[in-house]
Amino acid sequence: MKSTMQTTPLLISTLMRYGTTVHGASEVVTWTAEGGRRTTFRRLGEQAGQLANALRRLGITGDQRVATFMWNNAEHLAAYLAVPSMGAVLHALNIRLFPEQLVYVTRHGASEVVIVDNTLAQPFSRLLPHLPELRHVIVNGPVDDETRAALAAPATVEAVHDFADLIADEPVTFDWRDELDENDAASMCYTSGTTGNPKGVVYSHRSNYLHSMAVAATLGITSADRLLIVVPLFHANAWGFPYSAMVSGATLVMPDRFLQAVPLTAMIEAEKVTGGAGVPTIWNDLLHHLDAAEADVSSVRMLMVGGSAAPPALIRAFAENHDIDIIHGWGMTEMSPVGSLAVPPGHVERGSDEYWDYKSSQGRILCGLEGRIVAPDGTVAEPGSGVVGELEMRGPWVTASYYRSGTESQAEVDEMASKFDDGWLRTGDVGRLSEDGFLALTDRAKDVIKSGGEWISSVDLENALMAHPDVLEASVVGVPDEKWGERPLASVVLRPECTTSIEDLRDFLEGRVAHWQVPERWALIDEVPKTSVGKFDKKRLRQQYADGDLE
Ligand code: ADP
Repeated sequence: MKSTMQTTPLLISTLMRYGTTVHGASEVVTWTAEGGRRTTFRRLGEQAGQLANALRRLGITGDQRVATFMWNNAEHLAAYLAVPSMGAVLHALNIRLFPEQLVYVTRHGASEVVIVDNTLAQPFSRLLPHLPELRHVIVNGPVDDETRAALAAPATVEAVHDFADLIADEPVTFDWRDELDENDAASMCYTSGTTGNPKGVVYSHRSNYLHSMAVAATLGITSADRLLIVVPLFHANAWGFPYSAMVSGATLVMPDRFLQAVPLTAMIEAEKVTGGAGVPTIWNDLLHHLDAAEADVSSVRMLMVGGSAAPPALIRAFAENHDIDIIHGWGMTEMSPVGSLAVPPGHVERGSDEYWDYKSSQGRILCGLEGRIVAPDGTVAEPGSGVVGELEMRGPWVTASYYRSGTESQAEVDEMASKFDDGWLRTGDVGRLSEDGFLALTDRAKDVIKSGGEWISSVDLENALMAHPDVLEASVVGVPDEKWGERPLASVVLRPECTTSIEDLRDFLEGRVAHWQVPERWALIDEVPKTSVGKFDKKRLRQQYADGDLE
């Protein structure tokens, strides 16, 4: 029997229309050197209409790709709304990728138009000669004549436009493509690719729609919230926040290029921020700043952290020192990206050991998704059995394949196919699932340290080290060892003016982890190298060790 219900497609244009009318008074605040620059959701919707009309004029009539090379700001949000809603496909480029990777992903996605922030125009002009598919460059903000000339230089560039001028005379209304299929492409994103070329994922309207509803609901976001979105709009679909804001009406505070603890604190104070989203390194910096500064952050109720494992010490310190609830989440570019969020069950007493265990886990798999643990022998583990294995995921916002442009080698095609197992995405993450759906990851499969036939979790060692009051950052990688195959190398950054010795750190670990897991190899360093999205760059640490730079 068929249902009698309507089959309205789940489209981003629907979310946008809702958000920019019903929540029309909600704001977008973009940070500048002079403080916040403000606009409303209503005006953002009008700007999206103007941008869509302008893009149509530039020949974007179907599902062509439109790229962005931008910080988190109002104009970037307008592109997030306009491009998919007009039927085209948004490709937010990660501005921190190496030039070769940027050229690869831009050409692989075959964008024809790019919107570039003025503060990024110079570096982008150096890439442009290698991007022959790009016909139009739209610059957000004023640039000097030299930069403009550099952008216009490649023969393949038909024109360079100023964002504000380009849209100024366009109508604020647009005939949004409401007849689109909800499974049509809306946006694309590439994993940063620790080996080989980055791999592309293409999100649909439906996947974005469902994902943004699930994130908004699980985090309990409402129109009373004012969210500081530190996670870049170019990192994994900005964790869905641009669209969750349309659902909930939460005001968005966009830090643009001001990502250090001091300006972030200024934004929190000036804008009475209630929540935020960012990777652990960002919140760790903020924590150390707040611990020392006189700042009023009492407006903040929660900060979401994800992208890599959040140290339990970080989660507790925010709660105990600043009364801020850290919500740990786990996700992947391949999953839109949020897969789980750590909101402890209601029956668990706040502040109990059990409560902190729940808070430190990667969280409960979101409703709509399914996860399973595949043990090393290939069997599927019962949730709650404690068996550790590779996590596999499936659901309406999990990718079913990687995007292929037809230029891939057979080896790449085979590698992409190997990431799927009978309709499930193989995440490459290792851990266990509880009966009540909570995920506890021990490591990434490729970061687990295999020492004499036993496994050591690099994350467990990092978490134990980060609990030392003098430790600012700690990263642990496996390095080759003649006797054991691999042994852990701990690279530690101490807080300024701390003189803790390696001997002290070793003693600190004894009793906190099994004796045989305590590293013999240590390096005190000034900063842990970070990836393009601010995660600890373990590949680089291993390389530095191999090169003899760390001992
Ligand atoms: P990349 O693979 O380029 O880093 P993603 O941002 O998609 O790109 O990374 C997804 C991976 O990040 C996950 O597979 C997992 O290993 C790691 N990750 C994300 N969130 C967490 C978390 N809360 N705890 C542990 N690992 C995490």
